[in-house]
Amino acid sequence: MPVARILFPMPLPEPFDYAVPDDLDVAEGSYVAAPLGKHERLGVVVEVLGDEAGEGRTLKAVSEVYPTPPMTKAMRDFLAFAARYTVSHPGRLLSMALRARAGLLPSPTETVFTATGELPPRMTDARAKVLDVMAAEEAPMTAAQIAEAAGVSSGVVRGLAETGALQAIDVPTDPPFPPVNPDLPGANLTAEQAEAAEELRHAVRADTFHTFLIDGVTGSGKTEVYFEAIAEALKADPEAQVLVLLPEIALTQAILSRFTARFGAPPAPWHSGLSDKERRRTWRETAHGRARIVIGARSALFLPFQKLKLIIVDEEHDGSFKQEDGVTYHARDMSVMRGKLEEAVVVLASATPALETVVNAEMGRYTRLKLSARPGAARLPDVELVDLRSDPPGKGMWLSSRLVHEMQVTLEAGEQTLLFLNRRGYAPLVICKACGERLKTPGTENWLTEHRYTNRLVCHVTGYSILKPQKCPHCGAVDSLMGVGPGVERVAEEVRVLMPGARIEIFSSDTAQGGEATRGIVERMEQGEIDVLIGTQIVAKGHNFPNLTLVGVVDADSGMKGGDLRAGERTYQLLSQVAGRAGRAERPGRALVQTYAPDNPAMLALADGDRDGFLQIERDVRAELGLPPFGRLAAVIMSAPSAEMVDQAARDVAALAPNGQGIELFGPAPAPITVLRGRHRRRFLVKSPRNVDLSAYMAAWLAKLKLPAPVRLSVDIDPYSF
Ligand code: ADP
Repeated sequence: MPVARILFPMPLPEPFDYAVPDDLDVAEGSYVAAPLGKHERLGVVVEVLGDEAGEGRTLKAVSEVYPTPPMTKAMRDFLAFAARYTVSHPGRLLSMALRARAGLLPSPTETVFTATGELPPRMTDARAKVLDVMAAEEAPMTAAQIAEAAGVSSGVVRGLAETGALQAIDVPTDPPFPPVNPDLPGANLTAEQAEAAEELRHAVRADTFHTFLIDGVTGSGKTEVYFEAIAEALKADPEAQVLVLLPEIALTQAILSRFTARFGAPPAPWHSGLSDKERRRTWRETAHGRARIVIGARSALFLPFQKLKLIIVDEEHDGSFKQEDGVTYHARDMSVMRGKLEEAVVVLASATPALETVVNAEMGRYTRLKLSARPGAARLPDVELVDLRSDPPGKGMWLSSRLVHEMQVTLEAGEQTLLFLNRRGYAPLVICKACGERLKTPGTENWLTEHRYTNRLVCHVTGYSILKPQKCPHCGAVDSLMGVGPGVERVAEEVRVLMPGARIEIFSSDTAQGGEATRGIVERMEQGEIDVLIGTQIVAKGHNFPNLTLVGVVDADSGMKGGDLRAGERTYQLLSQVAGRAGRAERPGRALVQTYAPDNPAMLALADGDRDGFLQIERDVRAELGLPPFGRLAAVIMSAPSAEMVDQAARDVAALAPNGQGIELFGPAPAPITVLRGRHRRRFLVKSPRNVDLSAYMAAWLAKLKLPAPVRLSVDIDPYSF
């Protein structure tokens, strides 16, 4: 009797063995149900062993095989690699690949009706209404839809079907996606774009693993270039599938229509905003190899493609590719590993590539394709620093006279301004004028942000939120609470006073929840119905507003605070992205960057457009300190209900760290979020030379630990903040 080793999507260290009954067709990669404890559980067969493996053993048997093509070996290898790399149980990775397990079953069906043209033997008013509706409507509808449109009960519809006047058809509720067409014409590429596209097409045809970096200034046509690679992949192999990873949902909305225009049908979407039904549809269609272009957020990397031949990671430098909760992984780095195992081409694209990526390109691991110009008349914006020390805004205000002047000129010219401030709400801090108390989320050190539209105080770390109290919760003084510092709502208030005639809108995750609201703002902006848009980082990406000519960065220094070594790089990336929103069409753009630190290397590089000079400084610092990509880094986060308990546990854990291999330990120190949901948190940073297998080191260390139950520990390989 053959034996199947089944991995379950749970944090279990090992797969379990099951007998394979004669009548079941079980292969490696099959999705199966098998009894585990009291329940039937879904699992994936990771290995099938021959008859001898079952001899003399009493094993429970596999109960069922799902009608889905087995998970490919490349995918199983990828999950195993990711588990090892992130120091996680393989079953946890499998559970990420099975997020939409309803997709394992065939699509449910529903009954829809069309008119046959025959008349019923007996006509009634209600029946006539139904037939009128059917005559006007081409597409088949469900009984409920017809009944509603005709204002009758759905019994009338079914009665008509029995007479033969309507025909009932069972259709899948989540049908395959409409086919994409790789043969539609693309843009007329510039010489530089055409050359880059040809390199990508060539690599796609070669059908082996290769990683590219499209390093092109904002608006240089990176998207148009990778469209050519997608078209080639689809043409070269009728079964090839393509995955496009994008950092944010807001961007996905804007770019979906570009995909639809280029490939004749929308791609299959995958992100947290989907309904269960949409999700299982994308999962099923991907697993069957029918979804040919999938576009999604970072977790789309864990979809079970049948034949993945091309992976695009757009805005590859973006911080949201890093998953910080649960299994922590960086989707860009994991994409390269998946590409290697799938023998696929990987294309990273950015105007401000991460230092890691640039170094990989220079080492020859990635091929760099440069796009240095915007096509046609569009030019890169001029960036000017506004030194707030010599042009300070008035008390309680945030805009310099220089910026306000330019905003007025822009308004008079009938053009648009974007003000960028990466702070939601009205004020990032609320203090009591009477006693000086800073309002925090109870049990934590997190400040509460004032939101005026909703009149609430909100914690942006934990989501805790209360109505703004009348009295200070500390001293009881009445009407003494005061917001300190700027948020987008407060800047909007200032602009309303300064430019009473202007049409002003706020674009943040508070005002644009979900695709509809986002599309609304984007459309009004495109139609010229907004004069001044005030936005957080969600405006930074992907949008092309042809009439936007002025970008004002309200507080360029806000991301530079705190001890994070990556702060400079991140600030540079974000601000160049924001500045790049200006001047995308024929009109030239300008960006004014307000700062108190105009001598900071990130600011100087922005003003001079000297990205490579800036990267050189960053790289020297990192090389000097042995930090990524010149060394390896992991973080250990520990938490417990009390500070004493976590401190004691952290000391015990540190004492067990294996010595040698050039490993250095920093900490434990308070984690960046010191208290979260009532748990006190500490963090170690573990640094090793580049040639050390840090994941293996961490696994060996953790294997020795026995932590008291209330203490939790998690490992973050390649932490994003350090
Ligand atoms: P990026 O991805 O580098 O920001 P996009 O591909 O979005 O650049 O291009 C910016 C804008 O320029 C888009 O509206 C795009 O359609 C247009 N564009 C890019 N290349 C061409 C071209 N060769 N011909 C015409 N329009 C182009």
